[in-house]
Amino acid sequence: MALEHVDVLVVGAGLSGIGAGCHLRMECPDKTYAVLEARDSIGGTWDLFRYPGIRSDSDMYTLGYAFRPWSEAKAIADGPSILKYVGETAREYGVDERIRFNHRVVRAEWSTDEARWTVEVERTDSGETVHMTCGFLLICTGYYRYDEGYTPEFEGTERFEGQIVHPQHWPEDIDYAGKRVVVVGSGATAVTLVPAMAEEAAHVTMLQRSPSYIVSLPGEDGLANFLRRVLPAKLAYSIVRWKNVLITSAFFQLSRRRPKLVKGWIRKGVQRRLPPGYDVDTHFRPSYNPWDQRVCLVPDSDLFETISAGRASVVTDTIDTFTEKGLRLGSGEELEADLIVTATGLNLLPLGGLQMAVDGREVELPKTLGYKGMMLSGVPNMAVALGYTNASWTLKCDLTHAYVCRLLNHMDEHGYRQCTPENRDPTIEPEPFIDFNSGYVLRAIDKFPKQGSRPPWRLYQNYARDILTLRFGEIDDGVMVFSNPEPEVEAPERLAA
Ligand SMILES: Cc1cc2nc3c(=O)[nH]c(=O)nc-3n(C[C@H](O)[C@H](O)[C@H](O)COP(=O)(O)OP(=O)(O)OC[C@H]3O[C@@H](n4cnc5c(N)ncnc54)[C@H](O)[C@@H]3O)c2cc1C
Repeated sequence: MALEHVDVLVVGAGLSGIGAGCHLRMECPDKTYAVLEARDSIGGTWDLFRYPGIRSDSDMYTLGYAFRPWSEAKAIADGPSILKYVGETAREYGVDERIRFNHRVVRAEWSTDEARWTVEVERTDSGETVHMTCGFLLICTGYYRYDEGYTPEFEGTERFEGQIVHPQHWPEDIDYAGKRVVVVGSGATAVTLVPAMAEEAAHVTMLQRSPSYIVSLPGEDGLANFLRRVLPAKLAYSIVRWKNVLITSAFFQLSRRRPKLVKGWIRKGVQRRLPPGYDVDTHFRPSYNPWDQRVCLVPDSDLFETISAGRASVVTDTIDTFTEKGLRLGSGEELEADLIVTATGLNLLPLGGLQMAVDGREVELPKTLGYKGMMLSGVPNMAVALGYTNASWTLKCDLTHAYVCRLLNHMDEHGYRQCTPENRDPTIEPEPFIDFNSGYVLRAIDKFPKQGSRPPWRLYQNYARDILTLRFGEIDDGVMVFSNPEPEVEAPERLAA
């Protein structure tokens, strides 16, 4: 029996998978497509994470889609509002009708003879295996494991008489009112949890091994709220989006070029928001430079206000062991707790765990080079939506989807069925795909593809530069190899003879 075939198969129905569907509808209206989603709902990250206070840590004018204005007053938005925005976008562009839930893509095999991928899908509801084929694979699976967050090996967890929770698996019925909470970690999740939980808990302690850079920004964007009143929504959105792109990019560039200056600014900002005499250097001065790891954003100083009000505190120390009553620290100090939240991060996972083979040869990701930050050397008709590490995820995903649509249209125009980025330049040096020294990146970087030392293999993490390359750059750039022309259809008279 012939397998079901679509022109484009989108894997994942999170922020980027829904965006992919919208772009296909707008820019490749004649293409057939389906979205396969492993879970039973859309939204990905914004549906999975349910911990108190869950919110974005970049502004919604850049985390929102370029083509659909973010219209709420909050610039730093809570998880449910983002989920609502993704759901509304899916309905507005008809993407919701193309989603097949409970479909986990586990393997894809490319056949040059047939010019198509055969995809193996595991039904997460029934356990059944199904197959489909597609002409192009657009992988929007995010970058981390859904089934398991990262928790380091801690000693003595079995002795602890209270509850231990990971933010990725937040129990719906957990009651922490009046309890002593310790949040282990210092990343975006920890700094979100602390003020949110402090509203009900007796006290919240943020226990960190080492500090992170934390910057406070207004939760609402005054300019955005003003412009929305006086300008058409799309124009107001695009002005604010560009303002935020430029500010974020300038901050990143300055951090890389003048780290001392930026360190000083961030330190002053923190000091100003905490009570006089607070030990800023122990708890808020990291040993690395800003943007060597992600800088955390807090809205309206909420973390600092909670600390100043005495409802939360920060301890910078290591964990020696869990005890019956809480934690014994490296310094010997005991920290009592009823609930310990391990905000210790994610397990990175490339391509949603999907295995690939090209004409019977397994694709080994670490041996491939990323092309324009979205395709892989030697892998035809496949792109991955991966966002920026130094700016909002959607900025890059929007560009990726628009580029894929241009690529598909180019192939149709010229009658090709296959496009493969091929590196034929022996002077290109492979480098790690992500230029970050955070623990979660270092733990997994050897499973990821590499980037190359020069374009189009180099990942610049620069939106303005990517616009030039992806929106206006040549599709046929000499590196992308177009092949496998459409087979000629025999002339009707010859068929008749
Ligand atoms: C707590 C948290 C806060 C964040 N805040 C921000 C922020 O403020 N700004 C920012 O830019 N980024 C942020 N990020 C990064 C964030 O993940 C992205 O912004 C964005 O939501 C990613 O969207 P996505 O659709 O690419 O991936 P995801 O949201 O991860 O969605 C991927 C989808 O693919 C599905 N899937 C995975 N594997 C398969 C498979 N094999 N087969 C079928 N389906 C599959 C998943 O079930 C999921 O629905 C945050 C991340 C976390 C964890």
